[in-house]
Amino acid sequence: MLPLDPQADIGRRAWVACPNCADQQGCATCGQGRTCSEHWRYLLSNVGSLLHLQCPSCTHIWAHETHFGATRTPWERIISGLRRR
Ligand SMILES: [Zn+2]
Ligand SMILES: [Zn+2]
Repeated sequence: MLPLDPQADIGRRAWVACPNCADQQGCATCGQGRTCSEHWRYLLSNVGSLLHLQCPSCTHIWAHETHFGATRTPWERIISGLRRR
């Protein structure tokens, strides 16, 4: 298990499925595409539409391309989740 990245901040979260542990599977809230209070990832940084994420469950770090501009939906969901805090 990796330690949490020093950039990990609970104030910056993103709702993206973890490709490693997929702990969101079977969750009704996540299935509806809502900002689940249990299944979220640390948003370490973003470069344009590319997000760097860390899963708090398994500490997996990966990059997620949101294709911001092609389709705004995933990005808007992430941002609205951030705003809601
Ligand atoms: Zn995970
Ligand atoms: Zn969930």
